[in-house]
Amino acid sequence: MTVYLVGAGPGDPGLMTLRGAEVLAKADVVIHDRLADPRVLAMAPASALLIDVGKSPGGPVRQDEINDLLVSEGASEAVVVRLKGGDPFVFGRGGEEAEALARAGVGFEVVPGITSAIAVPAYAGIPVTHRGAATSFTVVTGHSRHAVDRDTDWEALAVAGGTIVVLMGVAHRAQIAERLMLGGLDASTPVAAVRWGTRPEQTTVRVRLDQLGQTPLDPPATIVVGAVAGLDFSWFERKPLFGRRVVVTRARAQASRVTKRLEDLGARVFEVPTIAIEDPGDGGAALDLVSKAIGGYDWVAFTSANAVEAVMARIPDARSLAGVKVAAVGDATAEALASYRIVADLVPVRRDAESLVDEWPQGSGRVLFPRAAAGRDILERGLGAKGWLVEVVEAYRTVHPEPEAADRRRVRQADAVLFSSSSSVDGFVQCFGASGAPSCVVCIGPVTAATARSAGMQVTGVARSASVDSMLDALLDTLA
Ligand code: SAH
Repeated sequence: MTVYLVGAGPGDPGLMTLRGAEVLAKADVVIHDRLADPRVLAMAPASALLIDVGKSPGGPVRQDEINDLLVSEGASEAVVVRLKGGDPFVFGRGGEEAEALARAGVGFEVVPGITSAIAVPAYAGIPVTHRGAATSFTVVTGHSRHAVDRDTDWEALAVAGGTIVVLMGVAHRAQIAERLMLGGLDASTPVAAVRWGTRPEQTTVRVRLDQLGQTPLDPPATIVVGAVAGLDFSWFERKPLFGRRVVVTRARAQASRVTKRLEDLGARVFEVPTIAIEDPGDGGAALDLVSKAIGGYDWVAFTSANAVEAVMARIPDARSLAGVKVAAVGDATAEALASYRIVADLVPVRRDAESLVDEWPQGSGRVLFPRAAAGRDILERGLGAKGWLVEVVEAYRTVHPEPEAADRRRVRQADAVLFSSSSSVDGFVQCFGASGAPSCVVCIGPVTAATARSAGMQVTGVARSASVDSMLDALLDTLA
């Protein structure tokens, strides 16, 4: 088949190209480097085989071995994506890989990427060219002793006068600075070194050229030398939650929306799975039965998006809900229904089970209540008292997975945790203990907050209305 040499961009998954995401989404095999961002790798199908050629017991895999791997995988039926940081042909050895594939007669395509040479300075608020400051920019490697000592004419670069962007230059930064100054660059020339650019852990160090050698710096960093490095149109590092580490504890499928919003605010988000959604104890047999006969109910009451998904997955025909009224507690639940073009007839103003009971009409008839195995029984009792016959059916089960060591570490280092339900509090406590909570604990509503308090946590923020937006406002308030 075809081997796609894909540029993944410098880290921020939003900087992956549409074409790159498209081929990644159909990949059978993804061969990637050490710096590949997990959020980019997540664009590949779950079934894809991920091969990390940046990490192996004896150090990184040798380039000739990578070439052989590309040729052998490319000769199979599989769709092979060779994922490289930034642009594949900018110091990515993509050229050598294309050459090897061409020589072996394996078809390939190149998907250019956004190079860190331009994007990383941009995320630090530095334009690589700027009227009056730089009319050109040079991208140069500082990788090997050889390149620094002999291959690159640093003095000529100094004379040329534009912006100098050094990739892989951390180790030899002292010699590089020395050579540039020998070439005539002023000792006071501004330098910006940006580490982990475009990622939530981005840091920018600004120094003079003559200080670069003594400045502590770790890879991976992009070093910008020249007048533009003195500009500071900083925006990324100024986001309200920039660099803050926030733990989100939701079942995987649901967390992504909150995560996206947090990342837009600049936060470093750790999705810690403390809850997994599984089929009910009976494998879903009871839910199957009631879902097939759903037209016989007067109302269906949904109190979670999980319940909506579980029921909708089992309904044979959307029209079987034609005469059935639907109630939804909480924004996420109503949105889950809306995604099936079902507008809830009743969404209580205060979005908890108590207000649903308050606002529910008096009457008689059958109410289906699909819900988690364990839950509060406010709805059954409340609606029962109003004359309704409530049939509870188990729609899903929440289980608490044993946390991995990496997750334990992330939770220990976090600045904040968000709880979007009482069960997410329970899940967190089961996995990490109440004392494992970070200093900032934000809950989606008073019920969740009460659960967190009774577990022994100090709640620092509660959303005013039970919505993701409001929860994020509460987080901003507490962290500010
Ligand atoms: N093909 C890549 C460059 C590969 S060389 C591209 O076009 O971006 C790897 C070097 O790129 C690193 O040593 C570092 O200098 C730079 N780099 C890559 N990602 C970076 C990041 N997120 N932040 C800062 N520098 C980065």
